[in-house]
Amino acid sequence: KEFRNNVKPNWCPGCGDFSIQAAIQRAAANVGLEPEQLAIISGIGCSGRISGYVNCYGFHGVHGRALPIAQGVKMANRELTVIASGGDGDGFAIGMGHTVHAIRRNLDVTYIVMDNAIYGLTKGQTSPRSAAGFVTKSTPQGSIESSVSPVELALSVGATFVAQSFSSDLKGLTELIEKGMQHKGFSLINVFSPCVTYNKVNTYDWFKENIVPVDTIEGYDPHDRIKAMSYSMQNHGLMTGLIYQDTEKKSYDEQVPGFKEQGLAHQDLTLSKEDFAKLVAEFA
Ligand code: SF4
Repeated sequence: KEFRNNVKPNWCPGCGDFSIQAAIQRAAANVGLEPEQLAIISGIGCSGRISGYVNCYGFHGVHGRALPIAQGVKMANRELTVIASGGDGDGFAIGMGHTVHAIRRNLDVTYIVMDNAIYGLTKGQTSPRSAAGFVTKSTPQGSIESSVSPVELALSVGATFVAQSFSSDLKGLTELIEKGMQHKGFSLINVFSPCVTYNKVNTYDWFKENIVPVDTIEGYDPHDRIKAMSYSMQNHGLMTGLIYQDTEKKSYDEQVPGFKEQGLAHQDLTLSKEDFAKLVAEFA
């Protein structure tokens, strides 16, 4: 079960994205997948390269569109384990509409956001996860917009699996990705992944000082949506761990009879010459 390939990532040394790559590779092996049973669909950004760095099916899509493609892949071959991945700009700016509706739809896809609170590939502009007041070349006097909270966003639109992690915690992140892949339905895993080149505020040290692991909160119950929302608001959206999981709500897949068998991958798409001519005539 070898999920490593011989492609050398061209991320900057120290970039948080390396840990996410390693965690995906370990999690896939730990849950017993073979490379041909996994597909990773990515958007655009430094994070978008992940689909070429893991030995499995990969599709590097367009900006903000990892989720529609990932859902299409899942619909076409329903036996695949599908991961969608992208940066916070990809998922919470241009792709925000897709993120909200994919969460609501609850199709069995795991969405891993590589959240560095900045646009790294385009050399350091304010992103939807940058805090108000954040100074970059696109907001030289400080951002006047509030940052998106992935946890609160997901909880408010009916997410059935919400987790958050930090690139330095490879073990915890691997376990969360395993749980996300095993969850029946859509799983959102937001990962604080420091951009060491352009984000000099949200550094590894900053996260170590500010994140609040849920297992340090006495009596935390990851099945209580209201309290998860409340704790997240109290802790500025910086909680890590399994924040919320609903194991009762049925996934999209479970509500469609014969879902697995109906995908294109299981259909005989060969056409006889006569049927092809008939099809062409219908469209003529
Ligand atoms: Fe990582 Fe930032 Fe470098 Fe992009 S620019 S590879 S996000 S450190």
